[in-house]
Amino acid sequence: MRLPARQDFQSPNFGSRGGAPISMLVMHYTGMQSGKAALDRLCDAAAQVSAHYVVEEDGAVYSLVSESDCAWHAGVSAWRGNQGVNKISIGIEIVNPGHEWGYRPFPDIQMEAVAELSADILSRNSIPMRNVVAHSDIAPVRKEDPGELFNWQWLASQGVGLWPEVGDQGTGDRDQELQEIQEKLAYYGYEVPVNGVWDEYTKKVVMAFQRHFRPNNISGEWDVECASRLESLILLASGA
Ligand SMILES: [Zn+2]
Repeated sequence: MRLPARQDFQSPNFGSRGGAPISMLVMHYTGMQSGKAALDRLCDAAAQVSAHYVVEEDGAVYSLVSESDCAWHAGVSAWRGNQGVNKISIGIEIVNPGHEWGYRPFPDIQMEAVAELSADILSRNSIPMRNVVAHSDIAPVRKEDPGELFNWQWLASQGVGLWPEVGDQGTGDRDQELQEIQEKLAYYGYEVPVNGVWDEYTKKVVMAFQRHFRPNNISGEWDVECASRLESLILLASGA
């Protein structure tokens, strides 16, 4: 780390991991009008929410909860069959007003701090690259953060998370059956029914997938590029 994480905000909102090993890293945005407001809320015992780290827009990193403790950042969530991932994850809150208060690009200096912090976390914990996720990946119906402006592609180039490298045309199967799409999304990690039914829930999962892995077109419709990107991810994950 360029600078040690600041310790001047400490959250009382944490519990025991109950011996569960850390295997996930979850990215959030704060979704509040200022970084200070978010820090105050994450440290307010009445709010019952927290995260291990907060990264300000100027790149300052705050450590609120020890990594050895369970912070309360994910809520009702699931990834790769694990329900409620707080006990097995580290949560990073990235300061941004979010979709509710004026969503804006994450400054380079902030992204550099996120990359550096994440690389440090990954170097000290056994976290598979496919388990570096967005809050929206693990709670697709409730959450949109950190959202489509978060640069996952650049982050992956810094060794944090996976990015599917495929041509824009893609090589996916145009006539994929819905059930097969659901199977593959579930195989990669998403909580999705495998029933061949194009329901609201499945559409939300497709949007979460797009928000992370095809952010320039969050259509909620499956297409050949999405298919290609998911294939690429599954291939990358098999080696990660
Ligand atoms: Zn979140």
